[in-house]
Amino acid sequence: MKRVHIAPTLLDAQLAADALSSLGIVTHIFNANAAGALGEVPFMQAQPEVWVDDDGQEALARETLAGLRDAPLRDEKACPHCGEINPGNFMSCWQCGSALPD
Ligand SMILES: [Zn+2]
Repeated sequence: MKRVHIAPTLLDAQLAADALSSLGIVTHIFNANAAGALGEVPFMQAQPEVWVDDDGQEALARETLAGLRDAPLRDEKACPHCGEINPGNFMSCWQCGSALPD
């Protein structure tokens, strides 16, 4: 197995895993439970990680995730839920995990 993504939130990890699954890539998310306690533990302590089952699909997975990150506007955007400012390429708020607008 190869780790292809360290996600700011569990939601982000799931979005990444979903994108890879749609291409037929088998993924696993680690640290999912630790991420559920976000807000109670320091942000950097245990971020969810997305791993691909098949080492041969690592390159495709990284390419796909890079495309996801680069596609949205790179401007900062405010979280509609808590008002936190997030980088424009984030898919979900790093503070509260709410989905961010495109
Ligand atoms: Zn938020």
